[in-house]
Amino acid sequence: MSTPVHRGGHAFPWSQKDRVKIWTVVIRRDFWKPTIHSVVCSTHFDSSDYVCETSSGTKPLQKKLKPTAVPHIFNWTPAESLATLKRRKRHIQR
Ligand SMILES: [Zn+2]
Repeated sequence: MSTPVHRGGHAFPWSQKDRVKIWTVVIRRDFWKPTIHSVVCSTHFDSSDYVCETSSGTKPLQKKLKPTAVPHIFNWTPAESLATLKRRKRHIQR
C-alpha cells in the first residue's frame, strides 16, 4: 500500500500527530510505524477527500487532501464494512 510502485501518494500529516495516529490505525499493519518517508497512495482516498479548489478559485495542479482526510479505501476492506462506510458518507452529505 505504500511502495514506490504506486503512482502518486501522500505523506503522513506529521504536523498533526493525532492524524498520524489515526492513519496508522486505519492502515492496520502489525508492528509497523510510519516514517517521514512513508507514503499512502492516492488510491486509498476518493474525490471527497480532496480540496477541489484553491483559495483563489483555480484548480490546483496537484490534488490536495482535506485537513480531515483519512485513507479509507483498502482492497482488504470487507465488502460489508465498505458498504457501511458508503452509507454513512451518503448520510453525512445529506
Ligand atoms: Zn497503497
